[in-house]
Amino acid sequence: MSEPAEPTNRTASAVLPGPGTAADPDVAIVGAGPAGLLLGLLLGRRGRRVLLIEREAAPEIGGPGNGICPILQPATLGILDDLGLLPDLARGTTPVTHGEVVAGGAVVAGYAYAGLPDAPVDYALPTSIIQLRDVLTVAVRATPGVEIVYGATVHGLPARDDVTAGASRGLLLETAEGTRTLRPSLIVGCDGKRSAVRDMAGISSQVTEFRRGYLELRLPMPEFWGGMMRAYFTSDGYMLGTPIADDRLLLVWITDEETAGRAADGPFDELVERYAKGVPDAADWIRAHAHDRSQLREFPHHIVRPDRWVDGNVLLVGDSAHGVHVYGGQGLNLSLQDAACLADAVDRALTEADTAELHRFEAVRMPFVSAFQDMQELHLAALAARSAGQGSTQGGRRSGGGQQGGGHLPEFAPLALGQPELRDALAAAGRVPAGSAGGAR
Ligand SMILES: Cc1cc2nc3c(=O)[nH]c(=O)nc-3n(C[C@H](O)[C@H](O)[C@H](O)COP(=O)(O)OP(=O)(O)OC[C@H]3O[C@@H](n4cnc5c(N)ncnc54)[C@H](O)[C@@H]3O)c2cc1C
Repeated sequence: MSEPAEPTNRTASAVLPGPGTAADPDVAIVGAGPAGLLLGLLLGRRGRRVLLIEREAAPEIGGPGNGICPILQPATLGILDDLGLLPDLARGTTPVTHGEVVAGGAVVAGYAYAGLPDAPVDYALPTSIIQLRDVLTVAVRATPGVEIVYGATVHGLPARDDVTAGASRGLLLETAEGTRTLRPSLIVGCDGKRSAVRDMAGISSQVTEFRRGYLELRLPMPEFWGGMMRAYFTSDGYMLGTPIADDRLLLVWITDEETAGRAADGPFDELVERYAKGVPDAADWIRAHAHDRSQLREFPHHIVRPDRWVDGNVLLVGDSAHGVHVYGGQGLNLSLQDAACLADAVDRALTEADTAELHRFEAVRMPFVSAFQDMQELHLAALAARSAGQGSTQGGRRSGGGQQGGGHLPEFAPLALGQPELRDALAAAGRVPAGSAGGAR
């Protein structure tokens, strides 16, 4: 893997222009995914006028959905709880109260969420991404000052001709009705790992793609499993078993691209046998309940490292700012936590007409995320090296950590409680009453 690009423009703050006209929003957010919706909601609660731009059609709230099921950690759940959204989010899913790590056939670590000091809730929650989108969308729609335009995208970020100070951009909004120019104070790219906003702002990034290497098998939930998340490090890679919504057990297999490709393309019963060997606690259950390929899904993953998150009046948030691999299950948590912390920073930046607050967040957050991405790359490189039959030493560090399959186990507390330096901000982020107009000026 190549070295990360030298960061540029980390600390230089810029003047933030006002909206071009009274009809322009304070903030245009591109992407009504989890990060965009939460940021829009929190800015609306601070009295800011927000336009969310989403390229997909308006969702059918409560409609069918068979999306991915990320696990939300206590730090993230605390924010959603303070916003009153947790009961709707928790409906139909089993909380995870304990975790266990198995390596070389023995339990090498055990965790209890209840044992975490100052955790806002004492469990993690496997959450359907569709259900999360619905819950956030309903909350956003009930928030005055926040509008979502669907079936729309950003066509360009032209320089604002009404502003002389700083490098300020406007936004070409493309909808079915045609293209029009918006002149918000701030443009936020919440448009995911393949962010168009990032490209249009000229922010370069390093991308490491993992086209294969992640397989999911969904089974009915066995009663004996309980509220446990079990991670198995095996000679075949890494397997994770966790309860998910609709009473199902999700078995994730992360391995090197070649092994995953061969297993996914080969006979299904051989794949089932690998799962059974990898997850011995449920071996018989897997053999009895894995029937066909419709239960199997394969996803590509990307690690994306932009060289900066703030450029003039453009800000990147969530996956557009930092794609992470799924190993360690933090992409959604990082994205929602970014949005929660940044709502306050954006509010203050708008008040002060200066981006210094946004740069401050970047300076604190980027090294933490980057270290997490380093850990992931080390783990994934160790898997690939093991598969190629090589030794597994990178960067002078012995990889594997004594665990079969290349270890590099992420630490539990930062996963569950969030970045230590941001814990106070995370604890305060959701405590903005609906209709409070701190920022309305
Ligand atoms: C299989 C799988 C398992 C995962 N498991 C976990 C887990 O256990 N824990 C965890 O924390 N994370 C997990 N993740 C990661 C998590 O899903 C992402 O990190 C999270 O969805 C990022 O949210 P986001 O809002 O930043 O971006 P996205 O979810 O990508 O949302 C981006 C939004 O922008 C819209 N958009 C994109 N381009 C444009 C455009 N040009 N114009 C307008 N709109 C646009 C998209 O339609 C979308 O609505 C997993 C991901 C996968 C694929």
